[in-house]
Amino acid sequence: MKNRYNLVFCDNFFIYLYPKIIKNKTMRLLLISNSTNAGEAYLDYPKFNIRDFLGEKPVKCLFIPYAGVTVTWDDYEAKVKSRFNEVGHDIESIHHFDDPIKAIEEAEAIVVGGGSTWNLTYQIHLNKLTEPIVKKVKKGTPYIGWSAGSNLACPTIKTTNDMPIIDPMGFEALNLIPFQINPHYLDKNPDGHGGETREDRINEFMVLNQDIYIAGLREGTMFLVEGDKMSMIGKRNLRLFKYGQEPKEIESTEDFTFLLNV
Ligand code: ASP
Repeated sequence: MKNRYNLVFCDNFFIYLYPKIIKNKTMRLLLISNSTNAGEAYLDYPKFNIRDFLGEKPVKCLFIPYAGVTVTWDDYEAKVKSRFNEVGHDIESIHHFDDPIKAIEEAEAIVVGGGSTWNLTYQIHLNKLTEPIVKKVKKGTPYIGWSAGSNLACPTIKTTNDMPIIDPMGFEALNLIPFQINPHYLDKNPDGHGGETREDRINEFMVLNQDIYIAGLREGTMFLVEGDKMSMIGKRNLRLFKYGQEPKEIESTEDFTFLLNV
């Protein structure tokens, strides 16, 4: 019993106190809405933002390809690698490592690609990577995610657009930011489509999750978290939702730090 109590205490200490002590000084996140703008090459539009975020010195990033379902992880790695190489950086995929936890612990930067948020979360949970990633990123290791990789940085994956194709063993995500992102945020349905709009779906989420903000992150935009500051990159506005309030349109040039403190 005593051992068990100590263990529980240690977990709580890690999850609740540790992030509060150092989170605001060191965390660096680049959370991108979408890899690819319509009509452009894969990962082309954000590549210079990725370069700026990682800096001048070449960085060998640990790539997490788990959201890839219809692509092999080798092929996914090759695609991302060539784009990173173009801007002077490199990646190696976690699926080549015998010990994925050690790979996280030793990573210079962590890069999480898009695809199925459900499969990504399933693999993260299966490999017990939540705690190692959170610990590493809160110590200052840069984290880049796009799409599903941005969903993973949220408290839960409940605002993904993806179909639940696999049981992820819990909706909990990394909780690196205190609000939800809806990536690829779309304003309206195509003409002639009678299904729910994105806003309809977010309204449903808010009825059952009233305390949390949801950032409708339109394509071509991204959040940049540098320690205790957050800004947005890209030309389009953010559409911000909170239960009981009218959705707000916020220009990307505004300071978004307030969202780190909600
Ligand atoms: N499927 C998206 C992606 O590209 C994620 C999402 O739309 O929620 O990763």
